[in-house]
Amino acid sequence: MFGVLFTLDYEIHGNGEGAPGQLMVSPTDRMLEQFDNYGAKLTIMADVAEILKFKEHFETTGKDTFDYLKIEEQLKRAVATGHDVQLHIHSSYFKSRLVNGAWQQHWDEYSLADLPYSRVLEMIGTCKAYLESLLTRVDPNYRCHAFRAANWSMSPSENIVRALIEQHIKIDTSVFKYGKRNDRVKFDYTDSYSDLVPWPVDMEDVCKRDPDGALVEIPIYSELKNVWAFLTPNRVFRVFQASRHKHAKHRDLEDAPRMSGQKVSKLAGLVSFFKDKHARKLDFNQCTGTQLIKGLKRINREYGHLGKKLPVVSIGHSKLYTKINEKSLESFLDFIAAGGDKYSFAKFEDFDLKSLKQETIQ
Ligand SMILES: [Zn+2]
Repeated sequence: MFGVLFTLDYEIHGNGEGAPGQLMVSPTDRMLEQFDNYGAKLTIMADVAEILKFKEHFETTGKDTFDYLKIEEQLKRAVATGHDVQLHIHSSYFKSRLVNGAWQQHWDEYSLADLPYSRVLEMIGTCKAYLESLLTRVDPNYRCHAFRAANWSMSPSENIVRALIEQHIKIDTSVFKYGKRNDRVKFDYTDSYSDLVPWPVDMEDVCKRDPDGALVEIPIYSELKNVWAFLTPNRVFRVFQASRHKHAKHRDLEDAPRMSGQKVSKLAGLVSFFKDKHARKLDFNQCTGTQLIKGLKRINREYGHLGKKLPVVSIGHSKLYTKINEKSLESFLDFIAAGGDKYSFAKFEDFDLKSLKQETIQ
């Protein structure tokens, strides 16, 4: 039995550009409406670092340029109607400055995992306290207990894992098996414990299982695919859109397969780019409905014998929820809604963490 989580990264563009009303509030409204029709549950991973800047701007200028009030209302409405809101942090917003209408990022603090322990602890504490103070107003039992790192980077692991535990965050959901980055953030998740089965985290390396670990990793499900499997209508549409935009190179194409950062000849790099397989996340904004359904069937073939209810984490971004995507998502929602005792819609709180920690892939 599998509980499918729809985790939605809720943010503007990674370089601080874009209107929150257009990239966060209005697509998420449409998505909540679509999900409500199916009894599906959305888990909004809210980038609180940027939301706090929008709030500060509203409070200091009296102008709600960044739709802070609508964001607040939307997060409250989500929790009040049975969806969930958990924590995502783009740390470079904390000291960002508003320049010509965009939030100029403080690049020195771009990689949260690389910051000193005390700074990581402070940021996580501030963001968690904000969510809990806002959302206990609509649900007194609300707790912020799950986290996703910006750019999926939990590496180096020690400071960030320690700080999450210290702030009573129980779940991390940043790792995707086979994922690799070697630019502003650096990680290699090739050898992470599992693509699906959660594990208690080793403080020194989020990829490793430590039976005594206090933080549970519930990974974003991903599979190894060649580049052609990434060509979906929604991705092609985004590349087309980005090519028409003057800041295309800074925009959010970070999840697409990429050439290696190592120094190799151009031709060798190109050959291996097409030959190699790349990590494709179970992304409900970018995969087609058919790809998503195939993904779930594969999970059932591989892990169905374990017999326990396991979380399947899919990922999306509010800013990528297009009309094309809205349509193609219907078949996936239908499939889960008709899933009987095999598949269901889920939130993180639906799982018993103690028992998930004991689950192993043997
Ligand atoms: Zn993000």
